[in-house]
Amino acid sequence: MAITNRLGTILVHLSWSAVARKTVMTIVVGGIWHETNTFSPLVTDRECFVRYQLLEGAAIRDTFAGTNSELGGMLDAAAELGVPLVPSIFGGALPSGIVTREMLALLVERICTVVRQTPDVTGVLLALHGAMVAEGVAQADAYVLSQVRRVLGPDRPLVCTLDSHANLSAAAVAAADVLVGYDTLPHVDMAERGAEAVRLLVRLLDGDRPPHVAFRKLPLLSTPERQATTENPMQAVMAHCHRLERAPGNWTTSVMLGFPYADVPHLGMATLAYADDPAEAAAAADALAHDLWRQRDQFTPELSPPDAAVQRARMPRGGPVMLIESADNVGGGAPGDGTVLLRALLEAQPGSASIVIWDPAAAAAAAETGIGRRFRRQVGGNTLALHGPPVWLDGRVEFCDALRYQRDRDYFRGQTIDLGLVARITAGGVHVILTSERLMPFDTLHLRRVGLSPPSLGIIVMKSASNWSVAFGDIAAEAIYVDTPGVCSANLAHLPYEHFKRRCFPLDPGSTWPPA
Ligand SMILES: [Zn+2]
Repeated sequence: MAITNRLGTILVHLSWSAVARKTVMTIVVGGIWHETNTFSPLVTDRECFVRYQLLEGAAIRDTFAGTNSELGGMLDAAAELGVPLVPSIFGGALPSGIVTREMLALLVERICTVVRQTPDVTGVLLALHGAMVAEGVAQADAYVLSQVRRVLGPDRPLVCTLDSHANLSAAAVAAADVLVGYDTLPHVDMAERGAEAVRLLVRLLDGDRPPHVAFRKLPLLSTPERQATTENPMQAVMAHCHRLERAPGNWTTSVMLGFPYADVPHLGMATLAYADDPAEAAAAADALAHDLWRQRDQFTPELSPPDAAVQRARMPRGGPVMLIESADNVGGGAPGDGTVLLRALLEAQPGSASIVIWDPAAAAAAAETGIGRRFRRQVGGNTLALHGPPVWLDGRVEFCDALRYQRDRDYFRGQTIDLGLVARITAGGVHVILTSERLMPFDTLHLRRVGLSPPSLGIIVMKSASNWSVAFGDIAAEAIYVDTPGVCSANLAHLPYEHFKRRCFPLDPGSTWPPA
């Protein structure tokens, strides 16, 4: 997926309308965004970053300013405060398998080089995901922070935003002055958290005493299906978090949901609080950790077998029934070409339904076939046996064209999405949308642009766990979570953990907390 790629752009010192500040500030900004599913065989190399986001210098501002992203929020807040930012590099790749050692080294080197070459640098702002794993580096985000810290030295502040799916470790906490996690799922507060990071960094640079930190790691795993902050249990947990943040001595407090699809030792939900008084930080982190632990059995979703889900969904409602296939969630590192639910739909022919399948060769074959002609070919199932074999699709090519648009809802609003060549094949009322790029279809445009009206579909399959609700929540008559096999399965007992050995709920229902 090509968002923008202007590698080679030289370092540009951005100058915004300078507002006189009591401290002269020059802040280097950069970031790496990757959620690594170590169970996925799709290795994440330089090409994956080039295809999604690999930006340097002025291209960072051109791409992110005004968007709902951490960098967008950082750029906008810094401009408002008159703080000069020196952009280094931002590399982002779609969630997928382990990141190559070369790519991690390249990104870290570029950030560190800009820090080193900016003689008057007073601090660093980073936007990291927090659940990155690289070859030989299980705690890749902690590694990035510690390398930047080495170059920056101990006395200049380093503030970093994290996705709330970060698998936070003590090493990451130790390397940064302040870490700020997203407060929302579906994620809609990226720009707000970026702006918050700027304000916290400016506070440190203005001479405020650095806050004390409290970090609590729970023996508790959860999956995104039951983590939405728009409903309980997380709605109440976040309300509590915001109450704690309003205390005058509290700098910021985060609840880290974690990302369980990585076989690394540091999995688990966590809480993190920064406050002037160490006792206040500890009390906040403990209170939220107890909230999570008390409700631990609320984090497991109810799942329906595929055939039963399709039968239930075919009954007419006032709007589309969402079949949530999170096991094949591209946003969690799955390939997006799983066929188990596709097969169930094609067999049941439950009226009008839509499903997206990543299959570049099949999309190209549809282009060769031509619009209005019969399409007969195997589709999907190209990546992992676990996600089902290819299935026969016998239908008509209804749409075939290159597709590119900007996200129009709060999930990364403004971000350009390039699906490459896209074909819609319709077979017995089932609209199969074949894409040549893997995507996170967390908006309605991928349906509207291929000629479908989302509210009038009977069934919409979402290969997503929770972010689908930003664009589809208001039209969905019901959401059914489907139990298909896959590397993002909501049933964690399916995953072959080897390096993650800690006793943890729900894998080990007898897990206890807090430690004696
Ligand atoms: Zn996330």
